[in-house]
Amino acid sequence: MPAGLVLLALATGCEVVQEIQQPQPVVRPPAGILEGLATRGTRIVDLTHTLNAASPHWPGEGYEPFAYETFATLEENGVLSGRFSMAEHTGTHLDAPNHFAEGQIAVDEIPPSQLIVPAAVIDVSAAVALNPDYELSAEVVTAWERQYGAIEPGTLVFMYTGWEERFADFERYRNADEEGRMHFPGFSPAAAELLVTGRDVAGLGIDTLSVDYGLSTDFAVHAISHGRGKYHIENAANLAMLPASGAWVIVAPIKIERGTGGPVRLFALVR
Ligand SMILES: [Zn+2]
Repeated sequence: MPAGLVLLALATGCEVVQEIQQPQPVVRPPAGILEGLATRGTRIVDLTHTLNAASPHWPGEGYEPFAYETFATLEENGVLSGRFSMAEHTGTHLDAPNHFAEGQIAVDEIPPSQLIVPAAVIDVSAAVALNPDYELSAEVVTAWERQYGAIEPGTLVFMYTGWEERFADFERYRNADEEGRMHFPGFSPAAAELLVTGRDVAGLGIDTLSVDYGLSTDFAVHAISHGRGKYHIENAANLAMLPASGAWVIVAPIKIERGTGGPVRLFALVR
């Protein structure tokens, strides 16, 4: 509803007033972060892996790997052009809320205001080095907040697990045992509940194949966050180059009509 109509509704006291939402607290970018783009005082970190035939993709049935072919060349056609195909959930990508939740929005419907947001980075790489089945607990989230401050509404919260080091080798990245069970870290359902419901974050991000850890069979984290309209970033790159807090991210997913996600170009601005 246009603001004018809301005011009119207020003035006339009609029913529509109930639609007015509580204002969200304003989270401001750190001073100078945008000016720093012009003066080069702000660092731009590319959090995106390059797509190629070796890019990790969700290893389920029907999830085809990335493929590229050249169909016109400068020599023969006077123009160089190619085409590509891939499953949506390949390489550095976004999961839209409709991926696991009935009635939720698709990738093309995520409001841009949810895509240029502050980033929080919870570094659990030391714990993951000892335990590939590590799940981020709610207690670790609150301990992080005691150190760096409360996670503001609208933040994109990343787990930095260090798993990126395996990205170039899909077998090591998915890390399946003899029974085919994968071993890589993720968010626990309790941490997801705290972040999604308690903190009203924009989304969850991670540098592994999934926000649910590898051993998950019920994808509980996906259900919790998508069920509340939140998105995920999976297979993020270069998270080690971000501060724990203070960076902003620009999340630019492909705009596929009714898509369940898709490749994303992901930048961080660091002052
Ligand atoms: Zn996905």
